[in-house]
Formats: sequence, structure tokens, C-alpha cells
Amino acid sequence: MDKCNLCKNNDADKTGSHIVPHFLLKRIENIDGKTDRDYEIGYKIERLKSASHFGRSVQPERLEETFGEITDEDIDKNKHPLVVDNFLCSDCEERLAHIEGIYSQTIETIEKTEYESGISTSNGILFWASVLWRLSVHGESGVKLTAVQNELLRVILDSFLPAKNEKFNEKLIAESDLVKELSYKIIRCHNCVQDEAKWLLFHPDFYDSLCLFIDEFVVAFSLSGQHDEFNTKDCFGINDLILDAPVNIIGGNEVIKPFDRSIFIEFSKKIVDMVKDVYVGGLDEFFDEVHVAAGGKGDKMPAELKQEIMAEITSDEKKNGRKYSQDEIVKSTYEVMKKYAP
Ligand SMILES: [Zn+2]
Repeated sequence: MDKCNLCKNNDADKTGSHIVPHFLLKRIENIDGKTDRDYEIGYKIERLKSASHFGRSVQPERLEETFGEITDEDIDKNKHPLVVDNFLCSDCEERLAHIEGIYSQTIETIEKTEYESGISTSNGILFWASVLWRLSVHGESGVKLTAVQNELLRVILDSFLPAKNEKFNEKLIAESDLVKELSYKIIRCHNCVQDEAKWLLFHPDFYDSLCLFIDEFVVAFSLSGQHDEFNTKDCFGINDLILDAPVNIIGGNEVIKPFDRSIFIEFSKKIVDMVKDVYVGGLDEFFDEVHVAAGGKGDKMPAELKQEIMAEITSDEKKNGRKYSQDEIVKSTYEVMKKYAP
């Protein structure tokens, strides 16, 4: 058996580990199929393939906009990609559950102006580090951190998450060099409606100030304490909001800056556009690979051929089922290429 990703010591015997804490995941999308309020969509973005996952009764028009129509069968077959086996040992699962238990208590506190969430920044750092680390090491959420970043987060978590039956030692973490450079900012939509499509998205362009869209929160988490990237790269139009948000560093109480739902709706539109762009960019690479594999001239498929395949993929006849599914893409690609085969 593989070793636990967190302690690297015990066997990774735990099954059903959540890559995203359950209390957040169930707000992003219904994973049990037991509530009526499961109108959320979770997105995973990967450059070379369409990898999306979704709740059981998602808003059809929203999905269709991005992925084409989805059938009940597609949804039933959808195994949740963020619940995994043999990622952690049972001990580390409990250590993570402990910090999640603490952080989940902050979720009901919400105000219209900057507010303290009710926990210390050391708890906040451990919680958000654990989410980012899991998403990165699991590696199927679009963005991976560097090996150095992953290892730093792992060491922080392994050093300061208390073992079973032990108390969290605020003093130990407050005095450590490991976390003294670290800082994070949180903004949160204070008046999102519950049915709103929520996001789970690691912004792919932010490397230093790691930028996570999760539920109604946006978290900017920097291992160097710098958030300068928000001065130079677009973050779906909310750069100023993040730059103006209070900085949380070790040794204080976590402060969150709220924002209005109109802003949430505005950046959600931009995220949908990016999902489409990333998706089409991935297809572009795929077409080139197929072209080369089929013995085509040069390393790029001619643009006209790509356009013809895209027209085939998006044709109205493919309304039923997921026209953007990998099977459909492969089929359409070969159908069009076949016409030109010698
Ligand atoms: Zn472990």
C-alpha cells in the first residue's frame, strides 16, 4: 500500500477521503442527492480534456451553455472525483477533520462590512493550506503547485495539525519560521442566494498568490506574503477587491471582506467564458496531436479542418447526450478526418 501523502509514514489506508472538506463541498454541490437545493455546479478544469463534474440536479440551461445537454444517465454515472481512496492514513484523516471542524464553525458568521470570522489566523492558515495542498497533490483540479510549494504546505500541516487526542498548540505555530512569511486574504459574497451556481476553481494563472474560488469565497493564499500578482494579472475583474482586502498573517484573528452578489454574478460570467476558452484551447492541442499521429504534414492540423471538426462537434444533431464528451469529440474528429484520408 502507498504511504499517506501527509505524514509519509503510515499506510494510506483511509477510503472516502474528501479532497475538498465535506462542509464546503456540500455547499458547492449536493453530493448525497438528499436535498432539494442541489443546484450547484462544480467545475474541474484540465487543459487537455473536458473534465467537469456536477451535482445531481443542476441548472440545465447553465450546463447546456457550457457543456451541451446532459442526460440523467450521465449524472448517475458521475463518480465524484473529489472523494478518493488511499490518499491519507486514518490518523491524518482525523487530523484534517479536526481543523475542518473548527473552521466550519465560522461559516454561519457573515456580515456586510469587514468582519472577524471567529477564529485565529493560525487555524485559518492550517485550514486553507490543507484545502490547497489536497487539491494540488490530488492533481485533478486544474492547477498543481510546484513541488517546493507542495512540500512546504505538507510540512506545515504535518508539523502543526495536532495528533489525535492532542491540543492545538497556537504558540508552537506562532513562533515557527515556517509560517511567518505566509499571508492570506479572503473575500466572500455576503448575499448569494442558496441556489446560485458556486465555483470550485483554482485560478490557473496565479503562481505565488494562490487564488482559489470556492463556494462563495475567494481566497488568495501566498507563501511569500506577497499578493503583487493581482496588480499584473486579471482575476476575473475582482483584482481591486482582493488587493483592498485585509491581510491575514499569523498571530491575529481572521478577517474577511464581504462583497455584493452583483459582483459574484459578474465574475461568474467571466469564469464561464474562461472555461470555454480553456476547453477550446485543449481541443486545439488534441487536434494537432491527432493530426501528427495520423501522419499529417507538419505539427499542426490545418485551421479549416479544425473548424470543420468543431462544426461537427457542435452540430444540432448532437443535442442529446454530451456533445462535448471525449467520446463525441473523438468520434467527430475521426468522422471529419476520414473524409480527407487518402
Ligand atoms: Zn498520515
